[in-house]
Amino acid sequence: MTYTADLHLHSSYAMATSPSITLESMAHWAAIKGVDLLTTADFTHPVWLAELKAKLEPLDDGLFALPAQRAAGTARRFVLGTEVSCVYPQGGRSHRLHLLVLAPDFGAVDRLCAALGPHGKLASDGRPTLRLSAREVVELALGADRRCEVIPAHVWTPWYSVYGSRGGFDSLAECFGDMAPHIHAIETGLSSDPAMNWRVLELDGVSIVSFSDAHSASRIGRELTVFEGEPSYDGLRAALAEGAIAHTVELHPEEGKYHYDGHRRCGVCQHPATTLESGERCPVCGRKMTLGVLHRMEALSGRPAAVECGADGMCSDPAGVRPPFRRLVGLEAVIAEAMGRGRGTKGVQQVYSRLVASVGNELHVLTAAPFDAVASVAGERVAEGVARSRAGDAVVSPGYDGVYGTVRLWAPDRA
Ligand SMILES: [Zn+2]
Ligand SMILES: [Zn+2]
Repeated sequence: MTYTADLHLHSSYAMATSPSITLESMAHWAAIKGVDLLTTADFTHPVWLAELKAKLEPLDDGLFALPAQRAAGTARRFVLGTEVSCVYPQGGRSHRLHLLVLAPDFGAVDRLCAALGPHGKLASDGRPTLRLSAREVVELALGADRRCEVIPAHVWTPWYSVYGSRGGFDSLAECFGDMAPHIHAIETGLSSDPAMNWRVLELDGVSIVSFSDAHSASRIGRELTVFEGEPSYDGLRAALAEGAIAHTVELHPEEGKYHYDGHRRCGVCQHPATTLESGERCPVCGRKMTLGVLHRMEALSGRPAAVECGADGMCSDPAGVRPPFRRLVGLEAVIAEAMGRGRGTKGVQQVYSRLVASVGNELHVLTAAPFDAVASVAGERVAEGVARSRAGDAVVSPGYDGVYGTVRLWAPDRA
């Protein structure tokens, strides 16, 4: 059996998030998006944790649900999870990176929060900053419960990631030391896709997962992982450890904010090959550019890129070792482009609501629904957009230095 999971989200207690994120709205949007299992997020925050304890009902498999939804038969499952930010010196350099942590029960969460508490202000941010090394966080998590999982988050972003050009390391071994064998999975982040990560030799045997890092409930599931096996806490742990993944769903990696190298203030955006020729200084102002995900990937990869994408949009490993993945354009963006209107406009929202109410959840509409079913509700042009999204057919201009890239299904000259 398979189930879809999004294990990287934030509550309204994390900085720069929507104030309207509640457990109820998370579960509501997860159902609309087609996400079966989602993280509670932010369990290190004391107020949010009290809310989790008050509202969530433990199931007998290490997962949780909202009782009202359970009664209605529409329950999404929750797993206890959080993200922490480690800021610390090591080897004469300052390091900053984000880690996702999963825990099997509230006892483990309480022990872990007690252990982390002296090293940062847990109440100040849903994603707390800790004066701890990544290695120490793994040690404390396993000390709280051997079944805790630590997953390095968005591993290529320049700031705050294990491989990042600004705050990271050149290897998991260098970062985690003797705790490295406990790292069973890494998160690709929005600016990289699995095929890019297949090139890194030390990731052979490490699962590659994708989640949304949503800061508002309507962004849940924009990237997700389809796991195989039992949808339980131990089933999830086993899937992470054994790579039991059917496939992952990705945005086009160029859409991420740090795909190419560049300097935002000067509007400079360039492929890493250009940077390697002309140097890391901005050609306009002479300051150091932000080296993007692609640049770091080229520097740390040990084998050439190899991926085969079929007409059905599924991209696979030619060696047949890794699970496949697909790149999608989100349904709201598809409708907006098809209608030539902004994503937040009423017309786009109405079509979106009609589609998910009558055809199925967003993932189903994007990946499986018959095109005539989509066309009968939303018109031929939206159905054509869904077909292009499903085939992975898009025209992209890459993001750089904090600027999101743009992805279009219709090239300006082939409307
Ligand atoms: Zn993060
Ligand atoms: Zn510049």
